[in-house]
Amino acid sequence: MKILVTNDDGVHSPALVYLRDELEQFGDVTIVAPEREASASSHAITVHHPLRLYECTLFDGSRGWAVSGTPADSVVLGILKFGTPDLIISGINPGANLGDDVTYSGTVGAAFEAALYDINAIAVSVIDVEEPDYAEAARQTADVVRMSEQLPNPFLLNVNIPPHHNGKRRITTLGRRLWSNNVQERIDPRNKPYYWISGEPKETYDEGTDIHATNHGFISVTPLKLDLTDSSMIERLRALLE
Ligand code: MN
Repeated sequence: MKILVTNDDGVHSPALVYLRDELEQFGDVTIVAPEREASASSHAITVHHPLRLYECTLFDGSRGWAVSGTPADSVVLGILKFGTPDLIISGINPGANLGDDVTYSGTVGAAFEAALYDINAIAVSVIDVEEPDYAEAARQTADVVRMSEQLPNPFLLNVNIPPHHNGKRRITTLGRRLWSNNVQERIDPRNKPYYWISGEPKETYDEGTDIHATNHGFISVTPLKLDLTDSSMIERLRALLE
């Protein structure tokens, strides 16, 4: 198997090395990732200036490839330079990509880019930001990769691993994860206002969702697809607007 590994945290993230070492049991692994952090860059691509792709030193001193752009750019250039892989893995992201987060996430954005080319993709996040256990998360990722060989192609999976998980997986839907107090206005030293987007997630805990599963110690695996059509609206809209 030919595997392309990317992320949104930058090519120097130790997570890439843990992932590569674990995934080498399946075949050739190439790391192509943004030269610097690009979290919350979603599925953005760079179209207004040229991109560079260059060999660089990874966290453990081995060699990888850096891209002067976004996670999705890294997928585009990875495919161009190294050919179409059988699988693209994006992560391991330190921090959850649950529920509505997937629309902001650069980690998931890279997986969406893979889906555009009908390439199998898995986005992986660990929920613990403070002390992420990348070695354990890489092993869990390998388990998912092993089982995904039975799946119809192409697939797009979003995996979230909670701290102190129970070792079991739940197949989930996306939950709701709204952010409260998500923008603050402050005053700079020149007396002008500036704004900072941040805040606390306000989660809903419906059973069957990724948020519910990870809150109960399970590893969540949510199958995603690019088609955002709301099928439930089609008939109503036809009656009203056609
Ligand atoms: Mn990130």
